[in-house]
Amino acid sequence: AETLYEFGNEDQHSRYIPRVCAGETMSMDLTEPDAGSDLQSVMLKATYDEASQCWRLNGVKRFITNGDSDIHLVLARSEEGTRDGRGLSMFIYDKRNGGVNVRRIENKMGIKGSPTCELVFNNAPAELCGERRLGLIKYVMALMNGARLGIMAQAVGLCEAAWREADKYANERRQFGRAIIEFPAVYEMLALMRARADATRAMLYETARYVDIYKALDDIARERKLTPEERKEQKRYAKLADAFTPMGM
Ligand SMILES: Cc1cc2nc3c(=O)[nH]c(=O)nc-3n(C[C@H](O)[C@H](O)[C@H](O)COP(=O)(O)OP(=O)(O)OC[C@H]3O[C@@H](n4cnc5c(N)ncnc54)[C@H](O)[C@@H]3O)c2cc1C
Repeated sequence: AETLYEFGNEDQHSRYIPRVCAGETMSMDLTEPDAGSDLQSVMLKATYDEASQCWRLNGVKRFITNGDSDIHLVLARSEEGTRDGRGLSMFIYDKRNGGVNVRRIENKMGIKGSPTCELVFNNAPAELCGERRLGLIKYVMALMNGARLGIMAQAVGLCEAAWREADKYANERRQFGRAIIEFPAVYEMLALMRARADATRAMLYETARYVDIYKALDDIARERKLTPEERKEQKRYAKLADAFTPMGM
């Protein structure tokens, strides 16, 4: 929703943001069977349909969190004949219009709270979000900083849970007449785990601060011109966020 808010137009804001605030769900549909890390090779096709005055999406997306969502942001190839990221645009697909089927739900080891779906787009009607050709190079890049923070937070939670489990066991388990935590080799392992978990948490909070600062300045820039100092800050923190969010994963 943040991406729609950042790059959609006023009309799209008024139609979609209230629905999200009322509890409808959104998904970001980027990954495809042959385009994972390498999003430049996304092939899902967007064609402008003159008759119905809207875009039509055709193709497959994979590993989509909440793929059964009400509103989708879809990365698709809108520029015929292109092969790289510059031919990709961002689209909004509204589930109410139909045209997308959930073909498969992944059976995962964790993250059971949200379905991870494979989707088939079959002439699904969609509208352009922002400008053509900026889908990957601008909008997905902006979206990723927020999405990566979520993944980092999951990792911090997993570290914390693993440490608590290990600490509990090492305090309960007794060998040679005492709890195994009292043996230096075991204590050292747990101390290292604790230190790494704390370091990961500190990195998450610091990175979240970088993202917050540049996004707040982006927001202010929509209402008034930034001062030269503010522009400098905005650039500095955006750079820090771009560098730290991938590292945190
Ligand atoms: C639980 C879950 C939820 C997800 N939710 C979404 C979602 O909501 N929306 C969405 O669009 N996608 C989603 N994804 C997909 C996710 O973004 C992709 O899995 C990810 O981009 C990696 O793509 P891939 O799985 O095809 O792996 P690949 O790109 O095939 O990579 C395989 C391995 O090769 C490594 N690798 C690839 N390229 C390089 C390189 N240049 N240098 C070094 N190593 C490399 C990777 O690190 C990885 O270990 C989700 C995935 C999971 C598991």
